[in-house]
Amino acid sequence: MRPARALIDLAALRHNYRLARELGGARALAVVKADAYGHGAVRCARALEAEADGFAVACIEEALELREAGIAAPILLLEGFFESAELEPIQRHDLWCVVHSPWQLEAIERTALTRPLTCWLKLDSGMHRVGFAPADYRAAHARLMASGKVARIVAMSHFARADELDCPRVAEQLAQFETATAGLVAEFSLRNSPALLGWPQFFRHGHGDEWLRPGIMLYGATPFERYQEQAAQLRPVMTLESRIIGVRELPAGEPVGYGARFVASRPTRVGVVAMGYADGYPRHAPNGTPVAVDGRPAQLIGRVSMDMLTVDLTDLPQAGLGSRVELWGAQVPASEVAAAAGTIAYQLFCNVRRVARSWL
Ligand code: PLP
Repeated sequence: MRPARALIDLAALRHNYRLARELGGARALAVVKADAYGHGAVRCARALEAEADGFAVACIEEALELREAGIAAPILLLEGFFESAELEPIQRHDLWCVVHSPWQLEAIERTALTRPLTCWLKLDSGMHRVGFAPADYRAAHARLMASGKVARIVAMSHFARADELDCPRVAEQLAQFETATAGLVAEFSLRNSPALLGWPQFFRHGHGDEWLRPGIMLYGATPFERYQEQAAQLRPVMTLESRIIGVRELPAGEPVGYGARFVASRPTRVGVVAMGYADGYPRHAPNGTPVAVDGRPAQLIGRVSMDMLTVDLTDLPQAGLGSRVELWGAQVPASEVAAAAGTIAYQLFCNVRRVARSWL
């Protein structure tokens, strides 16, 4: 078998979920959209089911996958529904849904429902993607109440820049939220991973009836560009690894791989690894991107190809054919690989494909 694989540590996932709840001091919906950021939504939800307050996904297809796997906990559709026909399965499967646009209010008003809905009414507090503008929020709330179709409303919004630890927009969004929702509902939800980890000064424990929405932190990656104390307590969940399948000794001056992106400046021992961009490893990772070979730090050299990449083994004389290569995991933080490649760990995880996944 091709040795490229992703190992998913479910104990680490549970550790990170507990940390989210502990730091946030509130109930938490584990965000398992996009196949749990590439970690396997059903496996992750099952691993968390005994303790999670619920789950959040992007769309009904993802929710039904969990329900079909027997997950009975609350599931929130973060983007609500895309057409009114979804309201029937939403009630049948007892799903919670975000309401972010006037057309969704109309659809709820128009559709005959047999069971009342739980709606999370989204405020656009500054992200300017979806959500009701502050000036329209109370009217939207009143319409939902008047529809007679809704049993419970949770006020929610989403931060645009909570990963920037000194960004004034975070306080501005929070203030917008507090003003727009004052006195309206008992339950609310604001915090994603960066808000939860990075902004404790704004959110005191016992601050009403809050729902946290941690995503990336569950998978053990920091949402921040630099060291952050709380994020340092996370445990990486995914290890992406493979093995050395070929070794080349090159004299100085010889190039490696497509486009000669690396030219040996000294006699160089090159290890060829069974892992490429078709597996989700970022093609834009430059020379020098960290990897670990048999537990020792090493570097990527040359362009990443579809099925292979190359690493410098010159300073690792013990390493050779069959050596284990960690592309990210406990030794090589996914966020560092992402930063080198000009992306974020979220995208690296979501892109993992073709490799065998094992859940431990
Ligand atoms: N809430 C909403 C509405 C989201 O869209 C997301 C993810 O994009 C999350 C929460 C989780 O965010 P994070 O992974 O940064 O914790």
